[in-house]
Amino acid sequence: MTIIFLIYGLFIGSFLNVCIYRIPSGISIAYPPSSCGSCGHRLNYIDMIPVVNYIKNKGKCRYCGSPYSMKYPLIELLNGVLYAFIALKYGFTLTSIWYCLIISLLITISIIDLKHKIIPDSLNIVGGITGIIFIILEKTILTDSLIGAGIGLGLFLLIALITNAMGGGDIKLMAVLGLIFGVKGVLFITLFSFVTGAVISLVLLITKVKSRKDEIPFGPFISLSALMYIYFGNEIINWYLNIIM
Ligand SMILES: [Zn+2]
Repeated sequence: MTIIFLIYGLFIGSFLNVCIYRIPSGISIAYPPSSCGSCGHRLNYIDMIPVVNYIKNKGKCRYCGSPYSMKYPLIELLNGVLYAFIALKYGFTLTSIWYCLIISLLITISIIDLKHKIIPDSLNIVGGITGIIFIILEKTILTDSLIGAGIGLGLFLLIALITNAMGGGDIKLMAVLGLIFGVKGVLFITLFSFVTGAVISLVLLITKVKSRKDEIPFGPFISLSALMYIYFGNEIINWYLNIIM
């Protein structure tokens, strides 16, 4: 089952590459079909899986020989490996399929935010709609989801007003994650994103990779924290409660 999730994750990962490249430029993700950036040759289904392409053609276009960027197979591999870990932790359940969807959405959001410093509304809308479907299918408690969304929205709106460092996309993403993960989840993600955000920003400033004037996108920290919650949330919360009690 883990292997099936891994392969499925690789396939979806290659689609994420298309989304990451096309959504910020406003190009349709369905049409035209993928083609080589250099020679324009249409890619067949096997060519579209960068990991397979790297093994088969050493990362070069089969038709014109120009090299592809390493980031495509890396994003694809990341998606595949994260899917495999979901299968290991949650088995073959509706929850697993659901978490895989969220993970792919978070990867896409993070890379677009890193590159363009925006979180497209379309992705938050996809998250919101899948959130509502999940609430219906999994019969989670509606009030918990609604309060979670309210907390995510309220907290980040407040932080945005005070610090002026938070974008509208971050606020909407937190509302979506609150809807999906409820009150406990949204509090975990908020706290965790600020701790990792502060630590990593400090490291970037000290190592002079970034200066104080640089805007450091917050979406990746939110996404990383949501992933931590999916994989280790209950363990971390229990460990923390054991320490303070
Ligand atoms: Zn080519």
